[in-house]
Amino acid sequence: MADPRGFLKVTERQTAPRRPVDVRIMDWKEVYERREKGVIQQQASRCMDCGVPFCHQGCPLGNLIPEWNDLTWRQDTKGAIERLHKTNNFPEFTGRLCPAPCESSCVLGINQPAVTIKEIEVSIIDDAFDGNLVQPHQPERLTGKTVAVVGSGPAGLAAAQQLTRAGHTVAVYEREDRIGGLLRYGIPDFKMEKSHLDRRLAQMEAEGTRFRTGVEIGRDISWNELKSRYDAVLVATGATVPRDLPIRGRELDGVHFAMEYLTPANKVVAGDGVSNQILANGKRVVILGGGDTGADCLGTATRQGAVSVTTLAIGAQPSTERRADQPWPTFPTLFEVASAHEEFGTREYLASTVEFVGENGKVTGVKVAETEYVDGKRLPKAGTEQVIEADLVLLALGFTGAETDALVSQVGIETDSKGNIARGQNWASNQDGVFVAGDAGRGQSLIVWAIAEGRAAAAAIDEYLEGSTELPAPVKPTDKPISVYN
Ligand SMILES: Cc1cc2nc3c(=O)[nH]c(=O)nc-3n(C[C@H](O)[C@H](O)[C@H](O)COP(=O)(O)OP(=O)(O)OC[C@H]3O[C@@H](n4cnc5c(N)ncnc54)[C@H](O)[C@@H]3O)c2cc1C
Ligand code: SF4
Repeated sequence: MADPRGFLKVTERQTAPRRPVDVRIMDWKEVYERREKGVIQQQASRCMDCGVPFCHQGCPLGNLIPEWNDLTWRQDTKGAIERLHKTNNFPEFTGRLCPAPCESSCVLGINQPAVTIKEIEVSIIDDAFDGNLVQPHQPERLTGKTVAVVGSGPAGLAAAQQLTRAGHTVAVYEREDRIGGLLRYGIPDFKMEKSHLDRRLAQMEAEGTRFRTGVEIGRDISWNELKSRYDAVLVATGATVPRDLPIRGRELDGVHFAMEYLTPANKVVAGDGVSNQILANGKRVVILGGGDTGADCLGTATRQGAVSVTTLAIGAQPSTERRADQPWPTFPTLFEVASAHEEFGTREYLASTVEFVGENGKVTGVKVAETEYVDGKRLPKAGTEQVIEADLVLLALGFTGAETDALVSQVGIETDSKGNIARGQNWASNQDGVFVAGDAGRGQSLIVWAIAEGRAAAAAIDEYLEGSTELPAPVKPTDKPISVYN
């Protein structure tokens, strides 16, 4: 611990500034400005190097946070990135996108603002890339074993990198035209520019991971055929089935799932031509769902030039402070102001959607009523209905689970009661040699959990192929975050 009195000297938590709203909504670049080195170093000095670092427990990756805080304070970027990469393949993703459960469990957070762990993480990896410290790690020997990873989101990529470095020959199959899963086509550039993804993929390719885009397993190659071609298969296909709202008017033109809107928007930002793109320009937009996906739709609609955007949440507005039943070190449900909320639009709470209203087959509004709680159920309160005018309605209501039809019919894979792909303690499905990681097995979660699961499943596959493994396994399939959500 470099400065034992750091947390007493620097009591203010200072985070990176967001670019001015009127400037940033004119482009798709990241909202946050580059963190100043001096500030990062000062902030790192606030870490107390706790005897029992609760931040470790908050992070499913088990990141060695006090160690790299100390190394950052000492301006040892090489040491810091080595420690960070020991537990996290992709700190540039988590550093930008994670809601940081580690900060919610930081001991300093008991009576002071928590250490800015996430910002320190992203500054370490950005400095490491700038300083050419991120190099490919080719395996020392090849095992001659082959692994197919299906799905190129953070779970599939983390597993592929671990397995390639362990000497296996790994091919990642992705049905989209580009690699990255939700990092590529879910999360907009204003949260993470895709150059961060591309430079990591370049490292992985140089290490020997092979990428096969535009191939849907189950359709272009059957699961059985894939299984017979490879020594092991990892299913990391995500939880992509959107939750619908089958109420009156759902069939109207202009009512869409969030991903039908976000995926083409991200493709256009990447420079692709997209026919029949759903656009928000000049439209009154209503977003159902107040979570991350809803905020991403809002930021996208703002940049496309929407006339108005209203985000509706069925529940009550969360509090800005921890509630008594969500004490430290849990991850509390708090009222969050994402960058997109700061830019534009209004947020309505306790709003139950009753009906989509339309004319000539096109949506013109959303009928909502106040939510009332009856026997613990959220119901629309009679007599409180009103119509919010809308030309575009986006359903950002979460996801119900993985797409499993082909897996079930072609290889008899088992699913669990929640619609996820069932797996045992060693990440194995009921089919020999077929493993499951990420949202496909856990349900829609977080990038940090996907990376942790990918790493752990890689260890299980390595053990299955070689009889033993030295790869780390930071989580088990049954692990739950110390959080009040999920
Ligand atoms: C809009 C949105 C914003 C989000 N924002 C955040 C955030 O800010 N922070 C955060 O921590 N989490 C966020 N999440 C959640 C996070 O993105 C996911 O938890 C994470 O990406 C899951 O990773 P994964 O690798 O399991 O699956 P995914 O990222 O979903 O990747 C699965 C991939 O598998 C491919 N695939 C599926 N079936 C097949 C098949 N049969 N053959 C070939 N390929 C196939 C899909 O095309 C996809 O590319 C967000 C989610 C959404 C929807
Ligand atoms: S809990 Fe907070 S103060 Fe303690 S070691 Fe972790 S980051 Fe540092």
